[in-house]
Amino acid sequence: MPLSTTGAHALVVPLSPVPQPYTYAVPDALDALAVPGARVLVPFGRRTLTGVVVGRTDEVAEGVALKPIADVLDTEAPALPTALLRLTEWMANYYACSWGEVLRAALPAGTDVEGVRVLYRTDTPAAWRGNPLGRDLLVLLGQHTGNGRNGHGLPLKEAEEELGTKLPAALLADLRTAGLLRIAEETTDPRVRAKTARWLRIRTGIDPSAAPDELRGLRQQMLVATLAASTDRSLSQADALAASGASSQTVQRLVELGWVEAYDVEVERRPEAFDAAAPTPQRIALHPAQRAALDQVNAALVAQHNGTKKTETFLLHGVTGSGKTEVYLRALKATLDAGRTGIVLVPEIALTPQTVRRFRAHFGDDVAVLHSRMSPGERYDAWRHLRAGRYRVAIGPRSAVLAPLENVGLIVVDEEHEASYKQFDPAPRYHARDVAVMRAHLAGAVCVLGSATPSAESFVNAKRGKYTLLPMPERVPVSGRTAARLPEVKVVDLAREQEVRRLRGALSVQLQEAIQARLDRKEQTILLQNRRGYAPILTCNACGHTPECPSCAVTLTLHRPPGLRPQLRCHYCGFTRAAPSACDNCGQHDLADLGAGTQRVEEELAATFPEARVLRMDLDTTSKKDAHRKLLTAFGRGEADILLGTQMVAKGLDFPRVTLVGVVNADTGMLLPDFRAAERTFQLLAQVGGRAGRAERPGEVFLQTRNPDHPAIRFALAHDYDGFIRADLPDRRFLGYPPFGRLVGIEFKGPNEATVEKLAARWTTQLTKRLPRLLKGLSEHDAQHLQVLGPTAAFIGRVKKQYRFHTILKAPLAVSPYALTTAVAEADAAAGSPPKGCRVNIDVDPVGLY
Ligand code: ADP
Ligand code: ZN
Repeated sequence: MPLSTTGAHALVVPLSPVPQPYTYAVPDALDALAVPGARVLVPFGRRTLTGVVVGRTDEVAEGVALKPIADVLDTEAPALPTALLRLTEWMANYYACSWGEVLRAALPAGTDVEGVRVLYRTDTPAAWRGNPLGRDLLVLLGQHTGNGRNGHGLPLKEAEEELGTKLPAALLADLRTAGLLRIAEETTDPRVRAKTARWLRIRTGIDPSAAPDELRGLRQQMLVATLAASTDRSLSQADALAASGASSQTVQRLVELGWVEAYDVEVERRPEAFDAAAPTPQRIALHPAQRAALDQVNAALVAQHNGTKKTETFLLHGVTGSGKTEVYLRALKATLDAGRTGIVLVPEIALTPQTVRRFRAHFGDDVAVLHSRMSPGERYDAWRHLRAGRYRVAIGPRSAVLAPLENVGLIVVDEEHEASYKQFDPAPRYHARDVAVMRAHLAGAVCVLGSATPSAESFVNAKRGKYTLLPMPERVPVSGRTAARLPEVKVVDLAREQEVRRLRGALSVQLQEAIQARLDRKEQTILLQNRRGYAPILTCNACGHTPECPSCAVTLTLHRPPGLRPQLRCHYCGFTRAAPSACDNCGQHDLADLGAGTQRVEEELAATFPEARVLRMDLDTTSKKDAHRKLLTAFGRGEADILLGTQMVAKGLDFPRVTLVGVVNADTGMLLPDFRAAERTFQLLAQVGGRAGRAERPGEVFLQTRNPDHPAIRFALAHDYDGFIRADLPDRRFLGYPPFGRLVGIEFKGPNEATVEKLAARWTTQLTKRLPRLLKGLSEHDAQHLQVLGPTAAFIGRVKKQYRFHTILKAPLAVSPYALTTAVAEADAAAGSPPKGCRVNIDVDPVGLY
């Protein structure tokens, strides 16, 4: 819908899952402020909600009395730039969710104002003869209202919490009728607001040199002298007091005397992690492939700037260490030079400190770093400064694609194949890469997707000419000589090692020798074991029983936390119990821990290489804020010989002294029932292998596997991305899977298995009914690929006490995304609201398991 900016009424989308915008009257006083993008307070049913004005209109359905907007929350610029209104509307349509849910995701958390119902006691409890709960409530309110009349009320929710029970609406109504209770609709303050600090300055027109005569106390004189000596004759109160030895009473006195003025200045809360001294940008000459790639991106920036071409998406396919980041940096510089702004998406900030630091080194305080571990205050400040144009670059994980920048000229998506770009919970279930392409399209900007191992989707889009391919097949030449070689990859067949009885633990003799050689040469090693904990399975040798999670349909993982007794933990819900010494089922003392997690590999390393310094990086060692950065910094400084970890160690790290990468078990994840399992495995192996030999010294990679003939292994061995993807695509084409078809996943869950199963069946019937309409106009070949698969129990049938079923709608590309989501939305509406405690989650373009 095109957004109109004129009209007497406002179209408002409340920030909740409601289906469409609502029309409100605009009081004259608010007319100039209730513009598209502004946040407003609106009455909605019996509540008051925060919403966003998405347009103005003169149309009102006949006979409808419009309610007026209660207030406008943005008194300066509207919270959202209009570009984001159009983008969020597209997202709501494409991802089959409400516009309000997307707008909520685009606004910083904790800034909305909520309506609450507040209870006031208007008489004493003695007058109440009904339900004893009413008496309890009145007593409670008495404690909060002093004399019981017109004191401070208590929000309904808090009253319910304190009483430990819900307050039935009928009871509240009776209390009100009896004249004992007043219920008022009030609004809460936002949880997050700007932070200010007090500053002092000498008033204009005052001559500080006159101070000794007119001011009596030495403290007063010192304070005035301190301020007089500072820039602009001003200082923060904290600094001024520290420097002069004066107290806040002195300040107050000087303010009263008219010498000094106090005022508030906003302080920005910035996360510390990235303020660390950034390296100075080195002057380097681009090598020819980089040059060629950059020239094309720059040409597109120019074309788009002078209007000859609207938008262009590039796929920068460069092997690990080919200098992609350098290309991003230069393209961003050209963008800023042209007066526009840029967004850089990275998979996970904590894992890419080096990349972030390089951007900070080049663009300094133009860059706002957004990440998931920021406090709400830090996030709010960064967001507002982006909105005000004080930052011109936003760098962050998927949510940064919604950064409130105006005039965006370039969007970079680094490691575009990463699954973490897809959001699952809560809605909107969007893919940040695809949203980036759309945002660039709407903004007339250039989008650069970069990867050493592009997703099959992007590869095919490049082949079809939808994206422009920029190949960088070689590593950056080292010290001006020949291109740094890609590492040599070797496969260790674990089955064979076992046969010849050479395999004792998780590390083969070959890998051990390679590690020893690095220790001798003072080089570094990265080891990937994509499973945390000590052992994935504890099983009884006598009866075969394996302990499972009481809430999830998975086996428990054995952990040996240092200094504590061994534990069994669920990796889905966090359930923890002491590891038993005897079998829960048969009581025999014959339990075996099978397989190896990172802890066990760590133990094996300690036993085999007592002199080696090992750092372990997995979810268990990185739960504290900043833990990733500390581990990576220590490793970068050479404070350890071996970095061992889960897939966290595979991402964008660039350590010149790493010459060996070992994958302890390349088969983890390879055989999952997911059509992307092979692609994921190949990407992980290629990425982690790419950490080796990035500088002068050549690198070596060992892949330990029981499936040496698996395509992911065979092609990783030859660094053959194209070969792999060409081998992987035909099956997908045959089955009509992405990128040759579209998928919508529908997840049903709830606490009772039979209820969820029934819900799934009923819902799926509604969807199936809508197939004939989607079939219209399809070729015979395409028609075959329009299918409803399911419902079936999910691969992990129960998580956190919730039973899970799913249905997948598979459609050929000839069916438009719009037709698809319309059918799904209609089925959802026709199926009615799910039974109590059950949920239906619609996931367009799902990634990962169902
Ligand atoms: P990628 O992002 O493709 O993995 P990077 O941009 O991180 O590659 O480059 C790898 C390394 O090579 C980095 O240390 C980078 O500073 C360096 N580098 C990049 N381009 C050049 C160049 N043209 N000349 C010299 N060194 C370069
Ligand atoms: Zn569990």
